[in-house]
Amino acid sequence: MERQALRQAREAFLSGRTRPIEFRLQQLHALKSMITEKQTEIANALKQDINRYDTPLLELIGIENEIKLAIEKLSEWAAPRPVEKNLLTISDEVYIHPEPLGVVLIIGAWNYPWAVTLLPLVGAIAAGNAAVVKPSELSESSALLLHALLPRYLDKDLYPVVTGGVTETQELLRLRFDHIFYTGSSTVGKQVMEAAAHHLTPVTLELGGKSPCYIDKNCDIRVACRRITWGKFANCGQTCIAPDYILCDPCIQGRVVECIRQTLLEFYGADPKCSPDYGRIINRRHFSRVMGLMEGYAPVLGGQSDASQRYIAPTVLKDVPPHSRLMQEEIFGPLLPIVTVGDMDDAIRFINEREKPLALYIFCSNKKAVKRMIEETSSGGVTVNDVMMHYTLCSLPFGGVGQSGMGRYHGRHTFDQLSHHRACLIRSLGLESVNLSRYPPQDRRRWRR
Ligand code: NAD
Repeated sequence: MERQALRQAREAFLSGRTRPIEFRLQQLHALKSMITEKQTEIANALKQDINRYDTPLLELIGIENEIKLAIEKLSEWAAPRPVEKNLLTISDEVYIHPEPLGVVLIIGAWNYPWAVTLLPLVGAIAAGNAAVVKPSELSESSALLLHALLPRYLDKDLYPVVTGGVTETQELLRLRFDHIFYTGSSTVGKQVMEAAAHHLTPVTLELGGKSPCYIDKNCDIRVACRRITWGKFANCGQTCIAPDYILCDPCIQGRVVECIRQTLLEFYGADPKCSPDYGRIINRRHFSRVMGLMEGYAPVLGGQSDASQRYIAPTVLKDVPPHSRLMQEEIFGPLLPIVTVGDMDDAIRFINEREKPLALYIFCSNKKAVKRMIEETSSGGVTVNDVMMHYTLCSLPFGGVGQSGMGRYHGRHTFDQLSHHRACLIRSLGLESVNLSRYPPQDRRRWRR
């Protein structure tokens, strides 16, 4: 099955049909039609997978925008890019030619199963590649729907979907692809990179991590908490760039908790379990893992759960010790710890002592202080005075650094990530006299002087 998918994709790629821009545009239009026409089916699949109603906003609009952008800009992206010349190449044609890599393997996670598979696919199609798509088995309804839909809209041979779990993915990883685009945990990311090394296959690793959220004591705490509450508890906390924990001065901790409490009431009502806008944990394993993280703490907000529905209430924990278990691994669930720090310097130190996160959030009205914090820390991306918004811009490269991943995508960045930037120099056979000085025998007297 896995071998067959790769063989079929490679043969189709080698047929050369992805080379013309018109073909790529036609495939992108077809993908856009799929999203528009099957929006209800996709939303229903996500409802089954993860109890999510906010699908169009959180996932589909972003995919549509990326497709539209690729359609509009493809000729520009794919065109040869002239570069500066030197004296020796002044009369040559010198340019970078973005060319397809071949067959890309796209391995997706379950939390935004459509975005993490289709966004890389948009770039793969635009760049003229074939792609084997392996969605996560944990979001099974979405995976099966993608498997059914993609061949109905796109070239059947170029973009096969392989369903399955660990065994199937490992089988795929044994094969030779021209690029692997992986979204998921850092642990599996390392295995992907190891398997890729065997074939010298380049990888993009879109991983996770603990994204800190610093709240300055002088900012508008009510607005800050509203935005943080949205980002943290959307998709039941299962978002790679969700704020993982809050860092703030002890003197505002009480107010932060109170503002989050009010916002939760406003967003999800008195009982979030009954709110159609509040999600569920993906499966029992993750439910137990998140519940385990809470052990030994007395939450100041939330803490309720129902294993039969994999429901965990939006939960806030205060005065969390910096070295506690809750602060070691990515939470990826609806628990929001607050760790107190003395000031911004303390917060910077705290962040720099840990692995580089996928995102950093800074709530602060002092622009100079914000710039300093950005300059003195590192993360995949930063949003100031809001959360997650840097993700929504196709012009900004999205990706991690260090343990949060490698490579970048969105918009033109996906196109570039999945292209080979071929260095081209074309010269004529004329003007041979210019070259005489580089041929032997060399005039050694020149160097002795
Ligand atoms: P997951 O368990 O669905 O795994 C991701 C993919 O890897 C799946 O297709 C799965 O089949 C495969 N896989 C799992 N175990 C494997 C193994 N041992 N060998 C080979 N393949 C294997 O998803 P997950 O890893 O639980 O996803 C959650 C993580 O993904 C979080 O850390 C989150 O932050 C991260 N994430 C990152 C992004 C991003 O854009 N950076 C987006 C979404 C999720």
